[in-house]
Amino acid sequence: MSNNFKKGTICVQGGYSPKAGEPRVLPIYQSVTYKFDDPSNLEDLFSLQAVGHLYSRISNPTVAGFEERFAQLQGGIGAVATSSGQAAILYSIINICKSGDHIIASSSLYGGTVNLFKVHLKNLGIEVSFVSPEASKEEILSAAKENTKAIYGETIGNPELNILDFEKFAETAKILKVPFIVDNTVASPYLCNPFEHGANIVIHSTTKYADGHAQSIGGIVVDGGNFDWSNGKFEDFTTPDPSYHGLVYTEAFKEAAYITKLRVTIARDFGACLSPFNAYITNLGLETLHLRIERHSQNALSLAKWLEKHPKVKWVNYPYLETSKEYEKAKKYLNGGGSGLLTFGLDTDIEGTKRFQRALKLISLAVTLGDTRSCILHPATTTHSQLSEKELEGAGVTTDLLRISIGIEDIEDIIKDVEQALEAV
Ligand code: PLP
Repeated sequence: MSNNFKKGTICVQGGYSPKAGEPRVLPIYQSVTYKFDDPSNLEDLFSLQAVGHLYSRISNPTVAGFEERFAQLQGGIGAVATSSGQAAILYSIINICKSGDHIIASSSLYGGTVNLFKVHLKNLGIEVSFVSPEASKEEILSAAKENTKAIYGETIGNPELNILDFEKFAETAKILKVPFIVDNTVASPYLCNPFEHGANIVIHSTTKYADGHAQSIGGIVVDGGNFDWSNGKFEDFTTPDPSYHGLVYTEAFKEAAYITKLRVTIARDFGACLSPFNAYITNLGLETLHLRIERHSQNALSLAKWLEKHPKVKWVNYPYLETSKEYEKAKKYLNGGGSGLLTFGLDTDIEGTKRFQRALKLISLAVTLGDTRSCILHPATTTHSQLSEKELEGAGVTTDLLRISIGIEDIEDIIKDVEQALEAV
């Protein structure tokens, strides 16, 4: 399918173009392996002289259909799907960094990412310096070291809901000659194209808005094909790889060096692949992403405006509220909506906050976001509970912060539910 189609069309039809007589819907190829008649065919596939599927840890036709649709939607040149968003984040970094390297990350991140960075990357010998999303370009540059290999941030920080200052972070990455990696999960590929704003690699937890129905865990790494890996800082891309018969990625794959290397080494050897069934489910989810995200965004804005006026509500944060300090950036970087997350604090103590959550009937207490069903969470005691006080502050997680992931139910019913629950406060 042509890349010139609009996003809604790519959501519905991208990534799979059946020939006459083939299934209309991308089928589930629930097969580990593929049959060959000639040993030379297999040899060519193993040595990357030919293109095709040889083993489903590395690639699979259902997963490939999903990857292709997602890459088109996100405006990248290629993508590798992973078993979870966490795996996508890890892969995106270890495809570039090894022990002794360093990255700079905005501190306003999902709690699991903070933990992955500060504990596990550290254990692997990769150091992460966290900088405030408000830091100036000079402050970010001063966090850089000789061995800095990437800059990392989230388009819409979860749960601070700050909008990434793409211009500032992208310019800094350019000065340092390192790739700018963006987690675009909360915005979804429909609301934001980070590649248009200077990102080089985009990752998603497809568990969230891509699937959209909270049915399958998954992740994806998308390559913008817009970074010069032969700039002298990334020798693994420009020198012969002993694990691939001396292949030089930049020579063999040009602008697709990053995503090819990720697939044929990291995905092959670490093995966190997406199953064909989960790829099928998530691909189906993508078919309504454009419709869902508009409704999520409308519902969230309506609830945010309603909450702003309620006497028991101390504060409300939603990037598309005109009163939000993120509003200008939201208008600049998001395509017509603020997505489905909003946060607020109640004029009560922690017990009152708990009473409010218990009293909700339609909105469920659940650990996810981007589901069609509305759900609520208290990040300080759940998703971000492993963070220190300082890290909580860096991630914008106050003890009174409640995060609602607005679903696509009728807004009147959502508001009624919140209204009756506020009576318990
Ligand atoms: N990135 C963001 C912004 C998230 O919110 C999450 C999970 O909540 C992840 C990544 C991790 O994704 P997964 O749960 O699919 O591993």
